Order: sequence, then C-alpha cells, then structure tokens
Amino acid sequence: MLKTQITADCHTHSSNSFDAENSVCEMLKQANQIGLDYLTITDHFESAFYFEPDEEFGDLKKLLPQSVIDIRQQQSINTEKTELLCGIELGEPLHDIKATNEVLSLTDYDFVLCSMHNLRDMGDFFWLDYKSDEIPSLLKKYFRELCECVQWGNFDSLAHITYPMRYICDRSKIAVDFNDYKNEIDEVLSLLAEKEKALEFNTCRNPELSPKAIGKCRDIPYLRRFKELGGKHVTLGSDAHKTQDLGKGIGGAIDILRELGYSEFTVYRHRIPELITIK
Ligand SMILES: [Zn+2]
Ligand SMILES: [Zn+2]
Repeated sequence: MLKTQITADCHTHSSNSFDAENSVCEMLKQANQIGLDYLTITDHFESAFYFEPDEEFGDLKKLLPQSVIDIRQQQSINTEKTELLCGIELGEPLHDIKATNEVLSLTDYDFVLCSMHNLRDMGDFFWLDYKSDEIPSLLKKYFRELCECVQWGNFDSLAHITYPMRYICDRSKIAVDFNDYKNEIDEVLSLLAEKEKALEFNTCRNPELSPKAIGKCRDIPYLRRFKELGGKHVTLGSDAHKTQDLGKGIGGAIDILRELGYSEFTVYRHRIPELITIK
C-alpha cells in the first residue's frame, strides 16, 4: 500500500460492547497514532436481547446510548488526523424489528453494519457443535436469513459474511466449498449489488493479508463474485475489540481489492457512501 493511500477502519468496538476492552477515547488515540484517516466505532446491538437483556451482552439499552454519547464527545474535541464516525453493528436486525427500529432512532448514525451471529432460535455460531452432514442445511439457512436482511435493507454494509466458517472450518475442521453454495451466495450478493449496499472485507482474522494470500483468504471468492455481479461498494473493517487490533489487515485488504479489480472502497458518513480511490 502506498503511503499516500487514504485508510479507513469501519468496523471497531469500544468498551460499550460486551466483549471489547478500550474506550472510544483510547481507540481514537490509537487510530491517530497509526495514521488512520477514518475510524468508525460500531458497537454491538443484538436485537433479540435489547428489550430482554441477556447476561452475555449486558444492558444494550444503556450501552448503545452510551456509545453514541462517547463518540459525540470525542468528535467534539478531536482535532487530529483521524475522522471519527458514529456507527453500529446490528446483529440479526429482523429477530426483533421493533428493537432494531428503536436503536436506529437513537442518533443520526454515519454507518450501519448488518451481521448474523446466530440464526433464528439457535445460539451464536460460536457456541454450536458441528457435524459434517448438518452443515449444508445450516449454511443454506444462514444465506437465506442474510437474504431476508438484504431485502429489508435498512443498513449500509453486510459484515463478515464468512462468520460461520470461523467455527465450522477453523475450529471444527470441516471444509466448506464456496462452490457448493454458489446459488445461495449469488442470491445474497446480487441482491446486495442491486440495492447498492456494501459488502464488508473483514480483516481481523487475516492480519497477514496481502495479495500473496489471495488463494488462502476465504473472503476473496465472495469479493470477486460480488464485483462480477455488479457490486460497487466494499467497506473495510478490522473488527478490533482492543486498540492493538485497530487497522490490522487494512493495508493488505486494499492491496487485494486492487488485485481484484476494485478501484475504490467506501466509507459512509451520514449513511451516504463516499468512494475512496485505491492508489
Ligand atoms: Zn460481528
Ligand atoms: Zn464486530
């Protein structure tokens, strides 16, 4: 990546997320130190646990307004290089649409991510036990639920589309072939492209990202296919849950996007896409 390249990390968590360590202030300080041009904080919202708090996620009705307050406060005093943006990670927004609508009215968000950590009536992919013969129906259900979210459409970028594979492939050592789910994946990606939504390149699991990793990184086939289907917007996010992970893999991801034929990536402000040229 060229030194003059504009950089952005648009998927990060502050201590207002149940599983993250550092304050908005600390994250912004680190972003300035490593020279990021844009930092978007996207704290966790899990729709099913908003009105009925769960021990794991904490009291989202308090945490999410606090996230907004902390971001606005830092925005008002930040005079350094990094532009701080206010985002949110909507987990399973359709599992409780009333909660989702309420949280989206908290502020004029810059950026809304949509993610799927668990399917309806199931635990987080993190907690599941996997058997090879059950994977096809599970993943087809996953892509179907993603499609429903894209149809709904009140978000800007689809986060970590390969989330289940972290646990199916990496932890349970069960291989998943992209081509076995091509129709289902095409449905999600073409709908995303048609609705002019973004696909996220989630870089946290890939700190060594570079064009040399193109054959190994499981997100590449999705990004390549998205482009073939007319997709234009790609957002970049380290998914950092602590300052040390901020910006990890972003430079390599930009290099990979260039190799895949993308000439821009996207940053959202007031939910309006801004195209950043890849040099
Ligand atoms: Zn997530
Ligand atoms: Zn996240």
